[in-house]
Amino acid sequence: MRLRVLGKSPAWPDPGGACSAYLVEQDGFALLLDCGAGVFAKLTEAHDYLDLDALLISHLHADHIIDLIPYSYALQLSPRRRHPPRRPLLNGPPGCSELFRRLSACWNDEQLIATAFEVSEYDPEATLQVGPFSARFCEVPHYTRAFACELSAGAARVTFGGDCGPNDALVEFARDTDLLVAEATLGEPDSDVPRGHLTPLEAGELGRLARAGRLLVSHFSDELGPDWVRAESTRGFGAEVSLAAPGQEYSV
Ligand SMILES: [Zn+2]
Ligand SMILES: [Zn+2]
Repeated sequence: MRLRVLGKSPAWPDPGGACSAYLVEQDGFALLLDCGAGVFAKLTEAHDYLDLDALLISHLHADHIIDLIPYSYALQLSPRRRHPPRRPLLNGPPGCSELFRRLSACWNDEQLIATAFEVSEYDPEATLQVGPFSARFCEVPHYTRAFACELSAGAARVTFGGDCGPNDALVEFARDTDLLVAEATLGEPDSDVPRGHLTPLEAGELGRLARAGRLLVSHFSDELGPDWVRAESTRGFGAEVSLAAPGQEYSV
């Protein structure tokens, strides 16, 4: 399994960056995990967007879905578009069909996203087969219904923690995973109840408690200072971590 970071920013992209998103490939099958601001442009650098096989959406915040709008236009209007148009499979959390309809309606075309993609709502309780990947989900504490997701192919496991506050469910879900992608949005723990994001130290501690083989720290702003993010997450993990950056690739 090959994972390429397309973006690692939180809800506002860094200069030259994009919101947290990943292209995951196995046996020629290409899956895009999340599609927030800036991600479509990064995808065009990494893969022909007309040939993407599937998308998987962790939750319905703007920084994980808003580039579905330019992507929809590209699939339908590009001079290279396919006839008939190719519709990548778009797997979203429960309720996504209605939200995509309301979002598309802002531009007077309720079917914009549903026409461009083959939209399907996943059952978080079930295992979803997407091409060569088996996807499992774990609901995590956030400000809207949000899911961590494990993608496995053969013996390889990658766990995307999604957006979340500290929680034991994700520790169990990610136990002994090969690669854990953990968010590190906060400069300091906030007072929200329940918590909805992690600090870099908490991201590291999550990886240590889950005994992840490798920890990829993501969903953080450059404004936090990458050196500080690295130092804090390394302190929590107890071993060297990787900081996500657009264009980086990992083999699992
Ligand atoms: Zn986010
Ligand atoms: Zn979010």
